[in-house]
Amino acid sequence: MKLILLGPPGSGKGTQAVRITQKYRVPHISTGDIFRSHIRRESALGLEVKNYLDQGLLVPDEVTVRIVENRLTEPDCQDGFLLDGFPRTLMQAKALDEGLQKLGKALTAVINLEVRNDTVIKRMAGRQICSGCGETYNLYFNKPQTEGICDKCNRALYTRSDDTEETIANRLRAYAGQTAPLIGYYSRKGLLVPVNGEQSADEVFNSVSGALKLGFL
Ligand code: ADP
Ligand code: ADP
Ligand code: ZN
Repeated sequence: MKLILLGPPGSGKGTQAVRITQKYRVPHISTGDIFRSHIRRESALGLEVKNYLDQGLLVPDEVTVRIVENRLTEPDCQDGFLLDGFPRTLMQAKALDEGLQKLGKALTAVINLEVRNDTVIKRMAGRQICSGCGETYNLYFNKPQTEGICDKCNRALYTRSDDTEETIANRLRAYAGQTAPLIGYYSRKGLLVPVNGEQSADEVFNSVSGALKLGFL
């Protein structure tokens, strides 16, 4: 299984990625998570990308492609992977195609989570993440039992620093201008699997696994 999860910011890519990687036993590669972990550690890469994430702008293609290409050569990616939040530009998609071709590999499917703008805005505005285990909650759709505390590990929840009104608007603009064209790109390659992302997280996952079973296994 060599999968891409495509969808606007806040569409539920991370939420589905957890379920997909458990079921299909493939590594979860989230460029956003990789960038955030470098920012937290204040590495050279972290310092280089911090401003982009803070503003809700895309990190330059060269930087992003290099990171993913390196990651895909690691041993755990040899039989499959799930890319979450990459590619986000046509240039990244083409670089991925070339990189995979060199490795003699091909994508299995591109899952496109279709979610309306007003829904993703509400999902991002209500997103809360556990500082201990990384579990994601939502103030509107999936509240923790105790406010501000993780149900699973009892640690404190935090809000992502880019889930603010202004940054959300920039991220949606970047998505519409730079990422949405990938829908046509993968559709023409016969790889696109559209999924209704407005359903509950479990229903979305059922749709994803149903489509993968039908078309690709
Ligand atoms: P992305 O990785 O695409 O930015 P997330 O998986 O982090 O999205 O989800 C964004 C927010 O929406 C989170 O707070 C999450 O709990 C919530 N969420 C995810 N999927 C759904 C869903 N199907 N229905 C309602 N809320 C959801
Ligand atoms: P979301 O889907 O909720 O926007 P991500 O965690 O995927 O969240 O991305 C967070 C930020 O990381 C983006 O706003 C952007 O600055 C950066 N980023 C992540 N993936 C890419 C990518 N493929 N290309 C460029 N920038 C990226
Ligand atoms: Zn937790």
